[in-house]
Amino acid sequence: MKHIVVVGAGPAGVATALLLARQGMKVTLLEKEVAFERVFRGEGLMPAGLDALYQMGLKETFRKVASRRLDSWDFYVGGQRRMRVTEPENEGLATQIIDQGGLLRTMVDRAKKLPNFEFLAGWQVSELLRQEDAVIGVRANRGGEQKDVSADCIIACDGRYSRLRQLAGLSITQAKSQFDVLWFKLPAPPSLAEETPFVACLQPDRQFAFYPSWDGRLQIGWIVEKSAHKRGGLARLKEKDWIEEFSLALPPELASHFRAHKDELEGPIYLDVQVGCCEQWSIPGLLLIGDAAHPMAPNRAQGINMALRDAIVVANHFSALKDAKEEQISTDVLSAIQAERAPEIEAVQKMQLAEWQKVEFISRPGLPYFGFKAIATLFGRFKFAQNIWLHEQQGLREGVLSVDLKT
Ligand SMILES: Cc1cc2nc3c(=O)[nH]c(=O)nc-3n(C[C@H](O)[C@H](O)[C@H](O)COP(=O)(O)OP(=O)(O)OC[C@H]3O[C@@H](n4cnc5c(N)ncnc54)[C@H](O)[C@@H]3O)c2cc1C
Repeated sequence: MKHIVVVGAGPAGVATALLLARQGMKVTLLEKEVAFERVFRGEGLMPAGLDALYQMGLKETFRKVASRRLDSWDFYVGGQRRMRVTEPENEGLATQIIDQGGLLRTMVDRAKKLPNFEFLAGWQVSELLRQEDAVIGVRANRGGEQKDVSADCIIACDGRYSRLRQLAGLSITQAKSQFDVLWFKLPAPPSLAEETPFVACLQPDRQFAFYPSWDGRLQIGWIVEKSAHKRGGLARLKEKDWIEEFSLALPPELASHFRAHKDELEGPIYLDVQVGCCEQWSIPGLLLIGDAAHPMAPNRAQGINMALRDAIVVANHFSALKDAKEEQISTDVLSAIQAERAPEIEAVQKMQLAEWQKVEFISRPGLPYFGFKAIATLFGRFKFAQNIWLHEQQGLREGVLSVDLKT
């Protein structure tokens, strides 16, 4: 039986570990945290991500996780809703707002039912074990304890600041820096108890979005310029009267809800957005996937999607190998996984950047903003304008290439 060590229990690691364990491989999943609840996790799951979960046979599992189906994409410009696009549903797939921690825990619980799966929570990988040119295991620590785990292949799913990427000597080509995000939570207004819109708000030099989340509260993401937290910037950001900042771009009834709940605002949490891609995703004995190989920007919720789709491709390539005689998974297989995934990652990152450049342009004070406001006011209520927007979003909603689980 091949032994695979997966490092990091985010979407990439949990999905990969579950799929490989189901194929009959011995799988050890190591995670540095002891709980799945984290201060902030991405919550948007686009149709391609939901499709990936369904392909993994997790439709019923998904139903048990707290989630809300998105109803619409709303665009507020200058304090008024100018366009509403109804969230379509193709083949039962629509965008969801999910409790990511709950989803991961449920998936790990599924894997735990398999005798060949082991979950080591609270273990942080600090070193790679090597023999000649190949990685043959990892060293992990928990408190004062240390453990060496050897394996036929290590799959590093340890996120955007990947320690394993660094230990393997693989470097990332950073994409042009875009923006960072401040996250807030606020009680949701009663009008959004039943309805789940994703609301994008735009004013000159001001872009933020909010949606009623799976926990019944509003999740608000405010865009700040890249690295705004440095050189005392964070203290200044924390001092701002955020409720007033939001209210300036909201219609009166929402603004008064925000003001009434001023004391219940949580945040900001500063999220440093990293975007890029490794030129090389593997060395003998080790493969990077998910954000470790290609950190994704948060716009249009692509990170979970791409991580789940990476896991499917890994499972497809590994399925042929479970009974192979050679101990190590060959570097050709690891390179083939990169070759299959990299084109979609590149295309999606380009689309995210283009999307951001558009938003950045139309929120520039003066002609760009007022021109856009006029266009949105004139055409936003017409179906053809809504369909144009939806058509542009297709790659970000459904993925760029087909990714089908073959095992
Ligand atoms: C502000 C922001 C908002 C976002 N919102 C969304 C969204 O709504 N929808 C979406 O799809 N994507 C979103 N993303 C992107 C998304 O969070 C990531 O792309 C996605 O989580 C990547 O999954 P992953 O499994 O590769 O890595 P991660 O989810 O980062 O998981 C990595 C795991 O590895 C563990 N780990 C790290 N180092 C070690 C170690 N040395 N040893 C053991 N364990 C380790 C970590 O604790 C973690 O559990 C957002 C990103 C940002 C920055």
